[in-house]
Amino acid sequence: MPDGGKAPLPAPYDELHRELAGFIAPARLILDPLRLLAWGTDASFYRLVPKIAVVVESEDEVVLLLAACARFHAPVTFRAAGTSLSGQAITDSVLVLLGDGWRRCEISADATSVTLQPGVIGAEANRKLAPHARKLGPDPASIDAAMIGGIAANNASGMCCGTAQNTYHTVEGMRVVLANGIVLDTRDARSRDEFRKSHPDLVRSLEALARSAQGDDALASRIRRKFRMKNTTGYSLNALVDFTDPIDVLMHLMVGSEGTLGFISEITYRTVPDHGDKASALILFETLEGACAAVSLLAHAPVAAVELADRAALRSVETKPGMPAGLRAVGPEGAALLVEIRAPDAASLRRDIDAVETVLRDVPTFEPVRFSTDAAECARYWNVRKGMFPSVGAVRRIGTTVIIEDVAFPVDRLAAATLDLQSLLRAHGYDEAIIFGHALAGNLHFVFTQDFNDASEVARYARFMDALCHMVVERYDGSLKAEHGTGRNIAPYVELEWGAQAYALMREIKRMFDPLGILNPGVVINDDPHAHVANLKPLPAADPLVDTCIECGFCEPKCPSRGLTLSPRQRIVGWREIARAERAGIDASAMRAGYDYAGIDTCAACGLCATACPVGIETGLLIKALRGRRASKRAHGVASAVAGRFGAATAGVRAGLAVADALHGLRVPVERMRRMGMPLPKWSPTLPRPASWRHEPPAGRGDLLVYFPSCAARTMGAARGDDAQALPTVAQRLFAKAGFDVRMPEGLSGLCCGQPFESKGFAAAADAKSAELEAALREASENGRLPIVFDTSPCAYRMKRYVAGRLAVQDSVEFLLSSVLPRVRIARVPGPVAVHPVCSVRKMGLVEQLDAVARACSEEVVAVPDVLCCGFAGDRGFTHPELNEHALRRLRASLPASCRRGYSTSRTCEIGLSEQAGMPYRSIIDLVDACATAKAP
Ligand SMILES: Cc1cc2nc3c(=O)[nH]c(=O)nc-3n(C[C@H](O)[C@H](O)[C@H](O)COP(=O)(O)OP(=O)(O)OC[C@H]3O[C@@H](n4cnc5c(N)ncnc54)[C@H](O)[C@@H]3O)c2cc1C
Ligand code: SF4
Ligand code: SF4
Repeated sequence: MPDGGKAPLPAPYDELHRELAGFIAPARLILDPLRLLAWGTDASFYRLVPKIAVVVESEDEVVLLLAACARFHAPVTFRAAGTSLSGQAITDSVLVLLGDGWRRCEISADATSVTLQPGVIGAEANRKLAPHARKLGPDPASIDAAMIGGIAANNASGMCCGTAQNTYHTVEGMRVVLANGIVLDTRDARSRDEFRKSHPDLVRSLEALARSAQGDDALASRIRRKFRMKNTTGYSLNALVDFTDPIDVLMHLMVGSEGTLGFISEITYRTVPDHGDKASALILFETLEGACAAVSLLAHAPVAAVELADRAALRSVETKPGMPAGLRAVGPEGAALLVEIRAPDAASLRRDIDAVETVLRDVPTFEPVRFSTDAAECARYWNVRKGMFPSVGAVRRIGTTVIIEDVAFPVDRLAAATLDLQSLLRAHGYDEAIIFGHALAGNLHFVFTQDFNDASEVARYARFMDALCHMVVERYDGSLKAEHGTGRNIAPYVELEWGAQAYALMREIKRMFDPLGILNPGVVINDDPHAHVANLKPLPAADPLVDTCIECGFCEPKCPSRGLTLSPRQRIVGWREIARAERAGIDASAMRAGYDYAGIDTCAACGLCATACPVGIETGLLIKALRGRRASKRAHGVASAVAGRFGAATAGVRAGLAVADALHGLRVPVERMRRMGMPLPKWSPTLPRPASWRHEPPAGRGDLLVYFPSCAARTMGAARGDDAQALPTVAQRLFAKAGFDVRMPEGLSGLCCGQPFESKGFAAAADAKSAELEAALREASENGRLPIVFDTSPCAYRMKRYVAGRLAVQDSVEFLLSSVLPRVRIARVPGPVAVHPVCSVRKMGLVEQLDAVARACSEEVVAVPDVLCCGFAGDRGFTHPELNEHALRRLRASLPASCRRGYSTSRTCEIGLSEQAGMPYRSIIDLVDACATAKAP
């Protein structure tokens, strides 16, 4: 990775860096300005840029790192997924990021507990628990991206978990590294004993704190009352009243401590049941008070979740496609409740639905309450809720920030509190604000847009926050942060919420754990009364393709280059900074140089980021546009010329593959020359040989179909040592077994869907090729009368979008499932076989269909859910092989040793998959052909 002009480090970071270099590999010590900025960003509206970012791979490294930082008094901030909203995961000092070594997930024999390292994504843990009908208690809306370290350190929660199933209440044990580098494992009696002996002062102090809190009735009952609500303001003081053993107190204080008391290196959770039978109802009310009265009734009913939405929140989504029609009929004071019931089986679900409907029988609602068990209808209801936050983000003025706040009130006063909140927002000019939240927990989120580019706007926000905090605390004794953590955002108000006595306890806790004040200073405890309006993040306009990005980080787990160079969020952060600097006339050449490689060259342009983005951004589109802008006029001309003589170009590729095959023994010299900087493609043992095949003209005995073999399938055969035939040969044979006669479009050798041009940013050449192919397919298919089948998913995906319904293009997966499998006899192979859904299969929503095809043909199908985009990206796997290696670094270890074959739907992806897995990957068409025989006429 080019260093992008790193600046010399100021003291003492220069010396600290030298010390860290003694035990951290250079590639894991980040100093270049682009990555420091981009990797340093979290989802909050605060910006601090670290001096050094360190990727740690083991607990030993954390111990050494803390010792080094303590020696230099250098503050340290731990980072999990960086989805925090309150400014607790950023620093201007040392940022500690988790490498691959933190992903262990061990489920107990009866699945009632799970032990996790902090780098496991919450949803990953749940995916592994799902076959046991169990899940984690904490369920933040960000669970598809958030990691265990952050979920525990923020005491995150969500729709269903309430206060009973958050980390505090479901943690069974923990391994922590304290600021002095000492490791304590609360699950290990010996470790507990040793800790008592080695830390008598801390142990005594914790005992004393707990004793004094428990002995003070007023304080103890206030703590208990406040934690009956969701509350993440300040430290988890309930640890002092709930436990007497100092080590239990310590462990529970770590929950919600936001990296300010120590590092959580492992955690054991008690899991909770994950009921599969569900029903939902969307209930509309004339008034907010009516909805809140229903919430009080539902508090004693068998419901899993009750979500409240005010009228403004409903208005923000009511005109979107697919929304229930009734939303628009709700009056100006109306509101809605979205209620979910979950049960272990259908009979219990029916019983619970009856019970809930009975509870709500006399409640005045727009329409009679009706629960649905239909998955599609339930999804429609929940889309109402899911659409609310993005709807504000999507319509905000460019350059402004979306703020999502998070307060809780006593449930019995929810109606009054919501009305007060609405008036307060209006009084401060936040007319577009919407309110929704987890009603059973009295937890309201409100979302509004804020301009931080203007001092008067910052002052307005400061006035609003002041008024809000006083209202929540003084009128309702509520909590200022119910779920999202104190961070920098509420740190100035912790004392207001808790009062002087409890706040003094929190300060004492911080002092006891971190006497040097090096653990995430400024977070939770902060003496600056203006900390919440300092270090505000700019969100300058950069490109309309990404300007609505809220930097939430939800896209990151999808990205094959995350951790190698940049994630989608980090690409946007970097590009925003470059655009801002260049507009201001500041020299951004150093950052631009780094961006060329990290931002532009190593993006696979796979588009998977869009599948997770709440505001629908596909960062790959920005990158393709930047590639197009970066390419010279001449390069665009060359691309158009190649597109115009595509047949000759593919013949050239075939000839090149023949030469490469002849030189197969030259791996060492070729790779050496490549590393010396010569512009040679990477040598790969799985490099394809030129494909050899011919079109078998229609015999006139079967149904006609139009088959389009992609240019990759036409030119790239199997690798040396793999006896597979060229894909067009196999596909034609299979189609014949299924009783089809194959027609191919005229002028096939010159045809291409345009994908290779599009991914390099040559949009005009790409569209010209698509248009040409559309015309040829139209002709061959007799204006769409005949089915049109592609053998390569990225090409099918591109053409589907290009023809936009003018022609029906089918991916091979669709055609195999709907039209081939029913027409052949299948003898399943014993298995196991691995299946890799390429990105376009994911984007076309065909993952399950691919799985179904594979299961029809093999007794055992291995899916590797951790591996998404393979990073080969057309020819990028040859020019930037590190992307493919990084994207598939976990593939081989995830496959059972007995697995000898893999199947996919893109020849180029299969080259990289074969090399990284150490076994051949072929087209799924090959698998079906191997199992299929023609049915007797
Ligand atoms: C759109 C959106 C919706 C959200 N919805 C919810 C929600 O419904 N409920 C909710 O609770 N939150 C929500 N959040 C906030 C956030 O996603 C969660 O709190 C999440 O659990 C944070 O996890 P993370 O992995 O991103 O942690 P990070 O943001 O990386 O870190 C969180 C804190 O934990 C500390 N930390 C990280 N790892 C460790 C470790 N190993 N040891 C000690 N400290 C550590 C960090 O220093 C930081 O203070 C939302 C955020 C967004 C952007
Ligand atoms: S691109 Fe989308 S998912 Fe990614 S950070 Fe931006 S808003 Fe979030
Ligand atoms: S297009 Fe793919 S590689 Fe590029 S940023 Fe998005 S997820 Fe990452």
